[in-house]
Amino acid sequence: VRKAGLRMSDITLINGLILEGPHRPSPEPHAMTVISGAKLSVVNGAADSTVPSGDVIDCSGCLIMPGLVNAHTHAAMAMLRGLADDVPLDTWLNDYIFPAEARFAAPEFVYLGAKLAAVEMILSGITCCADGYFFMEQSARAFVEVGIRAVVAQGILDAPAPDAPQPGSWKERVEVFLRDFPSDPLVIPALFCHSPYLCSPGTLRSAWEMCEAQDMRLFIHVAETEREVEVIRSRYGQTPVEHLSRVGVLGQRLVAVHCVHLSEREKEMIAESGTSVVHCPESIMKLASGAAPVAGLLARGAIVGLGTDGPASNNNLDMFEEMRSASFMAKLVSRDPLALDAATMIRMATSSGARALGMETLIGALEPGKAADLIVVDLTRPHFTPLYDPISHLVYCARGSDVRDAIVNGRPVVRDGRVTTVNEAKLREEVLELASRVARDLGRDIPGERSPRDG
Ligand SMILES: [Zn+2]
Repeated sequence: VRKAGLRMSDITLINGLILEGPHRPSPEPHAMTVISGAKLSVVNGAADSTVPSGDVIDCSGCLIMPGLVNAHTHAAMAMLRGLADDVPLDTWLNDYIFPAEARFAAPEFVYLGAKLAAVEMILSGITCCADGYFFMEQSARAFVEVGIRAVVAQGILDAPAPDAPQPGSWKERVEVFLRDFPSDPLVIPALFCHSPYLCSPGTLRSAWEMCEAQDMRLFIHVAETEREVEVIRSRYGQTPVEHLSRVGVLGQRLVAVHCVHLSEREKEMIAESGTSVVHCPESIMKLASGAAPVAGLLARGAIVGLGTDGPASNNNLDMFEEMRSASFMAKLVSRDPLALDAATMIRMATSSGARALGMETLIGALEPGKAADLIVVDLTRPHFTPLYDPISHLVYCARGSDVRDAIVNGRPVVRDGRVTTVNEAKLREEVLELASRVARDLGRDIPGERSPRDG
């Protein structure tokens, strides 16, 4: 609505600093940003061109920036967080996670776990995530209720899966997933083949064809461990990326997660094919998988986003921490303090993540016409004081709890550190109720929880 040359707004942010994105990579003094509906209509405009007709958010002492993009997670695994730690990946998956999932991963489990994780993510400034797991229409429903943007990828395995108990029945599961997927601008469907060692070439190829037909992204864990590289080499006589190339799934549609153990040739193949990579530094450090060659991939022009991986292998969903860990890990392994500098980390956690998910025209930077997905970071706290360089502080000092407000698609989902969309206390009760059933079944105690004989 225009009135006498003045724009009417839904939400107006005033004051503070703003970091707009790669087109303006330095923080600048902020006058006024206007959100009209789901979109940004003014980004750091003059303070007198609009009548703040709706909600006015004063950002004095704060920094406004694009919402963080968590380009890889398994949100529902929040229900299994802390179940097993300090073990190798094979043991973790085969002795703990797969058996627990076989028993418990059901629609309610996925819905509640994803909802809990979505609340954790939005409170720490993640406005968009890429999620991969089972019963994923449930995850999509949870994300819509919380109000977080997401690429929601249905998990695919050759072996029986919790939502596809007959071996090879994943195609029927994908049909159900697509049929029941909520129609909402916040969520986009995708597919997620677990890995080249748990998905045959035929499965990879069929999943890729479905993605082609429906214009969806295809996610896959690739070259996560040395053991995986050995298995793929013994089975197919090639390295994992060469194998994916021969199967015909390498390219812009593919999002390759981890990519820890790559040959020089594989790095070239990833960059040349336009395949996106997602780096999950804390997960691969915790499982001692190795150090992903991120600087080498970036030097070749590859698109590399940043992800937390699932909450059972990290164990939190904090992209500020992830930026810091990625930078520190790169510096340590290269013995180069210039490796993955703070500005690079912010790009990876915002605009590069958006590119990896194929959403760069919508999110990842603050520009008029783009979706109003932004966060407000409170810079008045002791660990930000004094503030010589906001970019340095965002990567090396900030934590998720420094996020004061988060807006997704024009909707304020976090205000003053509280989620506005769901009842957190009720959600916590529902999660604890389900978790106590999981714990009882596994013969584990939840410390502090009353046992039945306490009455
Ligand atoms: Zn993963």
